[in-house]
Amino acid sequence: ISTSYNENEDNINVVVRVRPLNPKEMENGDHQVVEFPGNGQIMVDYPPNNPNEKPKLFSYNVVFEPAATQEDVLQFSGMKRLISMAIEGFRCTCFCYGQTGSGKTHTLTGPPGLIGPKSVAYSENHGLIFRSFMYLFQRIQEQSNTHFILKASYLEIYNEKVIDLLNAGTIRKPLAVRWSKKACGFFVENLFTVDCEELDDLIAVLEEGMRNRSIGRHNMNDFSSRSHTILTVHITSELPAENGVFITRTGKINFVDLAGSEMTKKTQSEGKMLEEANNINKSLMVLGYCIASLSDPKKKTNHVPYRDSKLTKLLADSLAGNGVTLMIACISPAKFNVSETVNTLRYAARAKKI
Ligand code: ADP
Ligand code: MG
Repeated sequence: ISTSYNENEDNINVVVRVRPLNPKEMENGDHQVVEFPGNGQIMVDYPPNNPNEKPKLFSYNVVFEPAATQEDVLQFSGMKRLISMAIEGFRCTCFCYGQTGSGKTHTLTGPPGLIGPKSVAYSENHGLIFRSFMYLFQRIQEQSNTHFILKASYLEIYNEKVIDLLNAGTIRKPLAVRWSKKACGFFVENLFTVDCEELDDLIAVLEEGMRNRSIGRHNMNDFSSRSHTILTVHITSELPAENGVFITRTGKINFVDLAGSEMTKKTQSEGKMLEEANNINKSLMVLGYCIASLSDPKKKTNHVPYRDSKLTKLLADSLAGNGVTLMIACISPAKFNVSETVNTLRYAARAKKI
């Protein structure tokens, strides 16, 4: 068994996924500097090979070792609980945090090109979003007395500009983020929101967004490490009550693929790169504050600077409300990456003090 857990019923779940050493790392003779003592713990040899320093020990709800499968992540991360709560009308967020190349996109969507009409059949590489959609539909079909309405949107935040990943017509034309009482918070004006009656409709949203995320960027090396994406599923349920009245509940789930956390240190960069790095730095820092405040109710809402970044504005209703947040911290096992790994583990540990 490649997972270990602590019991959790809290409004924040923090799990870590460690990817396998990749072929390049093995070619370079790199080795694994993380160990798994069990009980949701990770031990890191840091600073590496220093006999005067004890290895650092971190503790989380769940640790996924390199051999863990995509299905393990659905089954044991707490994701199923988020889906159940979203069905019950809560606002939930699942996000992947980590340096570029640590497995965020692999965890959420799987390798590119997997999703499409030819591969709708089960594949072991399908990511957490795909699996969550399947589970969501399974749960919905069990509740035959309830009428469900699903809608989905998919956006990208690049350099504090919000870009619709579904509406090809407006692509790369930034959309405005506004606040309204009616929307109960911040929303993206004119964001394309697709009605999804069937599982295939949701999968098509994922596929279309992934495709639009990658097009036209051949000359922008490593674009995905510099942007955040948010795929949102809105779930409205109408449950018939007595006297022909309906009980209506609306919940949602955000799936967030964050910009590479290493971008926060690229402060030697200049011009546009510096602006980018500062924006990423700010949004990840503010996100960190917001999450820390989730695990400590005393710090709640007022002092949290949600308004300081588009990312946290758009996640504010689920982070500040009574929904559930799942943080998946992705790390590399390699010695080469150990200082970024320790940064990620610290960020994740701050999110929740177990
Ligand atoms: P990120 O989105 O964090 O930049 P990726 O998800 O693109 O990282 O992962 C980088 C590379 O490592 C990809 O080629 C991906 O397929 C591979 N990879 C990541 N996690 C795993 C894993 N758990 N098992 C196998 N390959 C993985
Ligand atoms: Mg990625």
